[in-house]
Amino acid sequence: MTTKPAVVTRFAPSPTGHLHVGGARSALFCWAYARKHGGHFTLRIEDTDQARSSDESARGIMEDLAWLGIDWDEGPEFVHEGKKIGGDPQGVGPFFQARRVALYNKYLMQLIEQGRAYPAFESSEELEAKRKAAVAAKQTYRYDRASYHAYPTPEARLARMKEADAKGETYPIRFYAPAEEVVVQDEVLGDVKYAAGEMDDFVIRKADGFPTYHFAVVVDDETMGVTHVMRAQEHLNNTPRHVALQKALGFRTPVYAHMPLICNMDASKMSKRDKAKVARKTLKEAMAKDKALSAAGVGAAIGVATKELEDFIAAENDSLVTAQKLGAYFKIALPEIEVCDFRENGYLPGAINNFLALLGWNPGMKLADGKDLEKFDTKFLAEHFAIDRIGKTSAKFDRVKLLSFNGDAINGMSDEEFARVWREFCSHAEPRLVERVPEGQRWLWLAKAIKPRAKTLRDGIKPAGLFMMGDDAVEFDAGAVEKNLKAEGGKGMEMLREVLVRLQGLAEWTPGAIHGALELMAKERGLVNDKGAVNVGPVAAPVRVAVSGSGVTPPLGETLAALGREGVMKRVERCLAVNG
Ligand code: GLU
Repeated sequence: MTTKPAVVTRFAPSPTGHLHVGGARSALFCWAYARKHGGHFTLRIEDTDQARSSDESARGIMEDLAWLGIDWDEGPEFVHEGKKIGGDPQGVGPFFQARRVALYNKYLMQLIEQGRAYPAFESSEELEAKRKAAVAAKQTYRYDRASYHAYPTPEARLARMKEADAKGETYPIRFYAPAEEVVVQDEVLGDVKYAAGEMDDFVIRKADGFPTYHFAVVVDDETMGVTHVMRAQEHLNNTPRHVALQKALGFRTPVYAHMPLICNMDASKMSKRDKAKVARKTLKEAMAKDKALSAAGVGAAIGVATKELEDFIAAENDSLVTAQKLGAYFKIALPEIEVCDFRENGYLPGAINNFLALLGWNPGMKLADGKDLEKFDTKFLAEHFAIDRIGKTSAKFDRVKLLSFNGDAINGMSDEEFARVWREFCSHAEPRLVERVPEGQRWLWLAKAIKPRAKTLRDGIKPAGLFMMGDDAVEFDAGAVEKNLKAEGGKGMEMLREVLVRLQGLAEWTPGAIHGALELMAKERGLVNDKGAVNVGPVAAPVRVAVSGSGVTPPLGETLAALGREGVMKRVERCLAVNG
């Protein structure tokens, strides 16, 4: 065990899906704050909602955090690229809430013995009837503490619980809320108050024996030594409950800082549902245009039950699976919302972190030209992050800006670095490319040609399409053949024949040598542009058609070098044979 760190922050995701960008921003800020103050950053998995939680999702969240470089000092142990993350240096684990039930029960007992918590035995029908009666009487419903009064002492409650446990009767446990005002000092938003008597006796342990979020979070923040809680603003209204529980249990109150919402550019809240929204809109528009299109028909085509798809159309469910199937069916890109979406589409962790850091925070520094300093890495963030620069107003998720950050990050890489990162990406996203172009010099040439054409790693795949074709399977575009090979009495074909000979005779197969050979040929043929410079275009165009089937390729020297001499020869010979 090490000595207690002076600063402990935590990220506490519920493993019910992928890591959302909002969650990633919370984690990043907590990480940066801990790093800045030489403290610890803790990862805690809040899996008390057993029906919705999964280990797979917890693993996915850890994988995405690790990929972003947000490493945790305390939390589940995880190995990423050979590096171990997490552990339990303070001996405060386990870090999955479902494994901490005994600890929660210990504090529950304390509250029951103090008279601050009690079992409640009403059926849900009884509670619902009381709620309806309150609504009918135009009153705010609040649990009436009937069970508290029915068993008026801690002893009576404990005896009743024992009896219920023996019979297998289940019941929730409620917190006896304080009568006085509860004030939370939030570092971002100022004081947040719950007026005296406003707090209800909320449930702290559910009938299934698991604590509610409110209770588990309070026990864990205390027992894990958390000093600073930075989380999404949607939890702000929960905080007075947490403070009330801390007071009842004799716990410290950590520093709270609630972060602004992240919105789409149209000011709507950015949420996982945005994918369903886009898919639904596309389907509805298609159905409006084509009357033959029915929910049953589309459902059958994508493997979704008719009723389920009808509900989806009626916005009664926002199924991600249905949205994704519709996206594939209509060939539309659904908005990227979760970290894995950006990762799959070839965004770089550095660019994402930089962009996320600016959602509701900025370093408040100027560049020499007077513009705001916006480009920085996580090391800079860890040195400069401060809570007092977190904004109050919602942050806009500007996808254009993120794409430009990513493009700049790619541009800023050396060719070697890009080659490595892009190969790793392609090995998942387009394995054929990696199989066709060997690692080493040839891959490096290809990467060099692609880098200026890619704002994301995925962007680079399309221009490299010709590498995925077999040398004997290039499909020639009729228009390109006509224009670049057959026009003017087959001028292009004739050039191509000469190119073949010149390339066959090349001593060295490098981009420079290939380009030099094509340039020399243009020069010898007296091909010049209007400025009098050698014009390789008429020589290059037929070669482009021969190797790609179309008139467009990345720079030819690198492209041919990366394709390899043998492949180029085969393609040119076949082109001459097929189109001759
Ligand atoms: N588990 C909560 C969530 O995923 C976070 C709780 C917290 O940060 O206090 O929303």
